Amino acid sequence: MSKYSKYSRFFHIFVQMDKYITEAAQKILHSSHLNAFTGAGISVESGIPPFRGEGGLWNTYDPIVLDLDYFHQNPLEAWTVIHKLFYDFFGKADPNVAHIGLAELEKMGLLKTVITQNIDNLHQEAGNTDVVEFHGTAQTLVCTSCNKKFNKNEIDFSSLPVQCNHCNSLVKPDFIFFSEGIPPVAYARSVHEAESADLLLIIGTSGEVMPASMIPHLAKNKGAQIIEINTDDNIYAHASNDIFLQGKAGEIITKLIHEIKTLRNE
Ligand code: NAD
Ligand code: ZN
Repeated sequence: MSKYSKYSRFFHIFVQMDKYITEAAQKILHSSHLNAFTGAGISVESGIPPFRGEGGLWNTYDPIVLDLDYFHQNPLEAWTVIHKLFYDFFGKADPNVAHIGLAELEKMGLLKTVITQNIDNLHQEAGNTDVVEFHGTAQTLVCTSCNKKFNKNEIDFSSLPVQCNHCNSLVKPDFIFFSEGIPPVAYARSVHEAESADLLLIIGTSGEVMPASMIPHLAKNKGAQIIEINTDDNIYAHASNDIFLQGKAGEIITKLIHEIKTLRNE
């Protein structure tokens, strides 16, 4: 390939991307009920790796610690890993420009609800006020016997495994482990919000985790348009996408908000 044709191909891709950003910004401005659906990819720029793939957490840690039977049979070992990953490591992360951008879209009156598969609380920390946590949260914990609830700030993590101060049983984080069902309230709200949206912004999810991966399809079946942001173009919702924006969530959302403000003459 000549130097010129290589250059013109990159130039073409660049121009195409700008065109898609403008189209996506127009769709957002014309939407009446925009919701977002996010996965681990939106938190990567906050320093939290996804579970799978290159650099994924499960390359370093054994996911068996999130198996309920294993957790009950090996509470100290499981809690040692869970504490390290989900309280020590995740707890130090801050929202990145993608989370902050979604909060800005809400403040601009353009975004209603964020349905997230993440358990890191970063959407709330960024300022979104309506966040549905499809897989639960690490912020609260629950006794596996008497169901007493705890806020993570009440827990003394220096003494593991975490035990209930009421009945002494094992306490587990309020996010779901493998084979556990989706929290019913979060499930019902997610389905409702997927079906109420006329535009869904999907960010940083591989769609490998069921039943979360049905959310875009529920929205699409009710007539919503879909904008998807992902670094990887080999993704599941591709078939139902109206616009696919390839790139890092932070960079794409920054461009989108800039374009929305330009279109609004702000
Ligand atoms: P996943 O790990 O299966 O996929 C992550 C997706 O994000 C991939 O498609 C990848 O291409 C994309 N991605 C990576 N970096 C990106 C970036 N900078 N910008 C945009 N996209 C990027 O994640 P999933 O689909 O959410 O499913 C994994 C499960 O693991 C979920 O249940 C989630 O709860 C859980 N999880 C949560 C966290 C968290 O709370 N931050 C972290 C790891 C895993
Ligand atoms: Zn208890």
